Amino acid sequence: MNVRRRRISGIPAIAIAAATALGLGTLSACSDTASAANTDKFDVVAAFYPLQYLAEQIGGDHVHVTSLTKPGQEPHDLEISAQQTAALGESDAVLYLKNLQPAVDDAVSQSEVKTKIDAASLTTEEKHGNEVGGHAATHDTSKNEELAGLDPHIWLDPVRYAQVAEGVGKAFEKADPKNAADYRTNTAALVKKLDALDTEFKTGLANTKTKVFITTHAAFGYLAERYGLTEEAINGLDPESEPSAKRVKDLEKMAKADGVTTVFYETLVSDKTAKTIAADANLKTDVLDPIEGITKKSRGKDYFSVQQANLKALQTALGTK
Ligand SMILES: [Zn+2]
Repeated sequence: MNVRRRRISGIPAIAIAAATALGLGTLSACSDTASAANTDKFDVVAAFYPLQYLAEQIGGDHVHVTSLTKPGQEPHDLEISAQQTAALGESDAVLYLKNLQPAVDDAVSQSEVKTKIDAASLTTEEKHGNEVGGHAATHDTSKNEELAGLDPHIWLDPVRYAQVAEGVGKAFEKADPKNAADYRTNTAALVKKLDALDTEFKTGLANTKTKVFITTHAAFGYLAERYGLTEEAINGLDPESEPSAKRVKDLEKMAKADGVTTVFYETLVSDKTAKTIAADANLKTDVLDPIEGITKKSRGKDYFSVQQANLKALQTALGTK
């Protein structure tokens, strides 16, 4: 959309100089980045996969969506190129999640894009430590270490993700009113699917031998709380951090006391720590995917199929009765 700034490749430099001299300063000779924006559709830049997926599902044929985080890229420490910043400025809307990606937060706050949608503002966030969802067996002398800031991993809870979908739908309606009816229909369909997924998790995890699971990166706190489980994370909210020797000892003790069978790692980050701990404590390893990106290694092609795979992995690890 954004009709003020059309591609002008092919116009001689002199014409641009003349146009600039005439005060038509909004013309830009740089059109390479226009692939990400400046289409005849409603151009949405999404920060990373779960938001890209929402924008595509809700926008349908009316939107052109690009993601700042490429498939396979770990989103937490994303850096943004000058081209991406330029494309952001030319898009109609940006959909991001404050506090997940500092570089994106900066680029959005400096950008003049008309519609800025912060997914975090569309649902509720909580502070989460290394342990979420009620205390596991007494193992912990260090208490629940406070982690920096609010837990951004709201999309892994289908209920919160549905709240974000509702908010995104409303924002699209407002920003692109001629397609409002379709955005409303698509949002309702998506929310219905998320409600069904929520029910599947609820029934699927209602009767298990243990309620405790160990993950490398503390991404599953909201999911754990939603379904009455306890997440014990080896690392913090940032997947690349290293656990202390004491934390590792505590986890091994707890694993024994709570009948934990499996240490989960994820697809986009090294599984070294998980494998070491699992070997020391005689546990299995498996993948629990935080869906921060979809790659060939993902156990599904989109949010829903990967969540189904996560449910299956949890059922196996927790021992469904
Ligand atoms: Zn994460």
